Amino acid sequence: METTADIFPVLAKVMSILLLSGAALLTAALFLVRQLTRELPKGANRNWWYVLAGFLLMFVAGYVGFFCLKAGSLYTHSEMLVVVIFVLGAVFCLMVCLLAYRTTLELKRIFVLEHEAMTDPLMGIYNRRVLDRRLRDEVMRARRHHLDLGLLMVDLDRFKSVNDTYGHQAGDLVLQHVARLLVESLRQTDVVARYGGEEITILLPHTPPAETCDVAERLRRTIAGTPVTITDHHGEKTELTVTVSIGCTSLLPEHDTVETLLQRADQGMYQAKQQGRNKVVRFEPQQEAATA
Ligand code: GH3
Ligand code: MG
Ligand code: MG
Repeated sequence: METTADIFPVLAKVMSILLLSGAALLTAALFLVRQLTRELPKGANRNWWYVLAGFLLMFVAGYVGFFCLKAGSLYTHSEMLVVVIFVLGAVFCLMVCLLAYRTTLELKRIFVLEHEAMTDPLMGIYNRRVLDRRLRDEVMRARRHHLDLGLLMVDLDRFKSVNDTYGHQAGDLVLQHVARLLVESLRQTDVVARYGGEEITILLPHTPPAETCDVAERLRRTIAGTPVTITDHHGEKTELTVTVSIGCTSLLPEHDTVETLLQRADQGMYQAKQQGRNKVVRFEPQQEAATA
């Protein structure tokens, strides 16, 4: 018959196994932390995960050290309690790291989906859905707080002939080139969005009327002065200079709706075309409408 004393060597074996299991769980947590840091951009947040990895490493060393210290000897009651707490601690660490890693992946996935839902796949700028929402929000905000709001409607000049002469792929390249130039020339708070076809709408929050047209003129000159290299049908590289016509207008807080604002920018762009293209035209709202 087994006595109480016989059970202690068995318990010592169980404790050894528990200690090594705890060390293994912590090592798994370390591996998860490494995977997680690969998903994070450089910065303070990632650095704190490295600090946590350092702590995990110290714990692994502590578990193994305790195992070695007790190798071949029996465990007291309080030592057994310590081992159980160690193992539960390791399970806790692994669960936290696993959840953090999975949450990071999930957030990244949501971010990618959100980005795709907001971006025009060809030009890499905002799509029409975002434009409609931002227009509505910015017009509402500008009206409520009496803020300046500028709007530009940009259209490529004789773009059809670019497609016809050099092919649609070259045309796509030109569209990407123009979109990139626009984004690079504007503030982060400005909204650059594809309105449709080769038309781009630019929303300039907090921009007074005179400045709105200065911005438009600067954009027009930048595009006209920056040629793009394309490959034509025969595989030959050609430097192509494109121009744009821009309609510019500003919000009249008392009278404007999104539709009237867009209409004016569109009419400005149309007049720029009529005046020979590669121009900026400010479409002045009818004086009667402003005072009505
Ligand atoms: P205008 O100076 O009067 O604006 O002349 P235009 O030729 O630029 O104007 P039009 O509206 O007649 O032609 C626009 C062209 O834009 C027609 C269409 O084939 C082209 N286009 C629209 N979207 C895309 C696109 O995603 N890729 C390419 N390659 N072409 C596009
Ligand atoms: Mg055009
Ligand atoms: Mg057009």
